[in-house]
Amino acid sequence: MQAFSNAGSGDIVLAIAHRIVENRGYLSDIDGLIGDGDHGVNMAKGFSLAAERLRGRTRPLAVSLATVGDVLMTEIGGAMGPLYGTMFSGFADALDGVEEIDAAAFERMLRHGLEEVQSIGNAKVGDKTLIDALAPALQAFAATAAMRDDFAAALDALIVAAEKGRDGTIDLVAKIGRAARLGERSRGVLDPGATSCAIILRSLAEGAKAKLDALEPRKSREAQR
Ligand code: ADP
Ligand code: MG
Repeated sequence: MQAFSNAGSGDIVLAIAHRIVENRGYLSDIDGLIGDGDHGVNMAKGFSLAAERLRGRTRPLAVSLATVGDVLMTEIGGAMGPLYGTMFSGFADALDGVEEIDAAAFERMLRHGLEEVQSIGNAKVGDKTLIDALAPALQAFAATAAMRDDFAAALDALIVAAEKGRDGTIDLVAKIGRAARLGERSRGVLDPGATSCAIILRSLAEGAKAKLDALEPRKSREAQR
């Protein structure tokens, strides 16, 4: 079975936090074009606080995701605190009690996170928000996992779709959130939330792939016995 353990995988979330903090300036610059220029600041603040809480020992992936959810929900401002807080808490809830994370569990995680964000934010695909990265990423993951019995290939498809979705926001007019006030003038630039979401999803998928890779040598040794 292609799966990695929930228990030893919380460090994936620390890597996500580092990627967001690294992109602080970039994300705020993008938000400066159609928003108020605070997206990178908001995100970096939340994720560095979360990283402080997570540093030191490895926790289960579900626990680390829940910590990020709590911190974002309570500590960061803007639209993103509650939205990403809800997404991470949704991811965490779906993995609660799961020992081995296989493609089916990973898909449930993505789906639950998406449903939760949409339940509070009401954004649809095409509204020029983070949903435009998350929804196609889930769809590509699920389609690839259904077509081929290959968790890593599904993770690759997720990354490609998230980034394609992010790039697609350039041509969209914002229908929701602060940028919606600009109407047609919001067209022509990336959506900051879709951009941060693509960073999060790439980092999450790469972390999961590294966990699967780390298991491979053991599996092939077992096969040789
Ligand atoms: P604020 O708009 O309060 O300044 P941020 O700059 O941190 O917050 O985040 C802006 C991003 O929030 C947008 O780029 C968009 O992707 C996302 N966003 C806004 N409203 C929603 C919503 N209802 N659902 C999903 N994402 C949203
Ligand atoms: Mg903003």
